[in-house]
Amino acid sequence: MSPSNVRPSTLGELRAAVNSGAYRQRTVKDEVRENLIARLRNRTAIFPGIIGYDETVVPQIVNAVLSRHNFILLGLRGQAKSRILRALTDLLDEAIPVVPGCEIHDNPLAPLCAACRARVREEGEALPVAWLPREARYVEKLATPDVTIADMIGDLDPIKAARSGLHLADELTMHYGLLPRANRGIFAINELPDLAGKIQVGLFNILQEGDVQIKGYPVRLPLDVLMVFSANPEDYTARGKIITPLKDRIGSEIRTHYPASRQHAMAITRQEAWLARHEKEAGLAIDVPEYVREVVEEVAFEARQDSKVDKRSGVSQRLPISLLENVVSNAERRAVLAGESLVVPRITDIYAALPAITGKFELEYEGELRGADNVAREIIRVAVGSVFTGYFAGADLRQVTEWFDLGGTLNVDDTLDAKELLKRTGQVQGLHELAAVIGAKDGAPAPLVASAVDFVLEGLYAQKKIARSDEWRYQATEQPRRARPAPESIDRELPLPGNKKKYYN
Ligand SMILES: [Zn+2]
Repeated sequence: MSPSNVRPSTLGELRAAVNSGAYRQRTVKDEVRENLIARLRNRTAIFPGIIGYDETVVPQIVNAVLSRHNFILLGLRGQAKSRILRALTDLLDEAIPVVPGCEIHDNPLAPLCAACRARVREEGEALPVAWLPREARYVEKLATPDVTIADMIGDLDPIKAARSGLHLADELTMHYGLLPRANRGIFAINELPDLAGKIQVGLFNILQEGDVQIKGYPVRLPLDVLMVFSANPEDYTARGKIITPLKDRIGSEIRTHYPASRQHAMAITRQEAWLARHEKEAGLAIDVPEYVREVVEEVAFEARQDSKVDKRSGVSQRLPISLLENVVSNAERRAVLAGESLVVPRITDIYAALPAITGKFELEYEGELRGADNVAREIIRVAVGSVFTGYFAGADLRQVTEWFDLGGTLNVDDTLDAKELLKRTGQVQGLHELAAVIGAKDGAPAPLVASAVDFVLEGLYAQKKIARSDEWRYQATEQPRRARPAPESIDRELPLPGNKKKYYN
């Protein structure tokens, strides 16, 4: 009994289709439930494009839908909550019959609003029926403290009532808010705890009793809606943020999470980051080495664990996505300026992409003191060290570090074109051989080899086997030192803009 192949165009035809069983009326929750069962039966993907939730979040959502629950997703930012809620639209029928022009998508067979009831009385079985597509049945609202009952549920218009001679509580005088407009569909409220208490009471009354008081007048609105919500877990569980009756009415609480593995995280970033950039038209090809992708992902993992980063707000999966885009752009810029046709990002491009990192986390007090840029640089360094260990665990790095220990220095930064980088680094014995360990062998395109060499240098720097100055000079960690100041002298160090330091004795 697929509703999609039966599309009556009048009330009379619709009634006949229902009576013959060719079309079946269902509530939204039954409709979503039955369409979900069909997908489970056919083993169709339920949330295509949502990665890493197959064994955790998805089964819980399936159970909530099967239970006909209103539900809430609890999770930190960038855990695909909004995306999942929007994807529920795919579980609706392709279209449903409505009274044409009705703001609350009335069912022609049982209209709620006075205007539609009047039309049925006047036009009878000839009343036209329109078919509302599923995309028009999803309403989303970001909760903020200034959302009013009028925004959410609606308002009464006393002037309209006076003009038409109607009683004030008559629905004809109602200006509908978002929730009634979601009638026969899905209503999603993001960041539910930010909604004022009295709005929560209004929502609850509509959901539970089908009626609500507006400006002291009772308004009856027995709506048919699947309500879904999202919230930060700490806000949601904080005492007094959600009124108890509304909490009781939310059938399932489902926790989302960040990707559990680097592989899942890389798959998400691969899917979301904008890297297909008309390379052919521009005469450019983009090749992102796997270790660059891994470090980009590891930056997010490290940031989530870093004590200087606020854990309550989290570090979004949008961080590695924006970061990878920015890293590729830095490589693109270098390639274009150098006249190279192959764009290969390097680890140093990640340091050049701080603007894609620093806005994506909130800092704890200690982090504020250090500054966002410094915190981000330290996180990148730890991430590079972790990935580097995975690639070079058994490799002999001594030949390279000895070259630096013997006084060698290298000036190499992210702006240097590939050929020049290879020329400058060619003097370091063993360095290019190490680059070959990760696949950048002789004969490989110069930008690929340059990126591998840069990875080795940055890996050694991350592991503190060599040092790197603020001017991108690689050198030995142990530099000949000036004599230390005598212990009794008071040595104060004041930070100045531009990372310059001034010493006061
Ligand atoms: Zn209506």
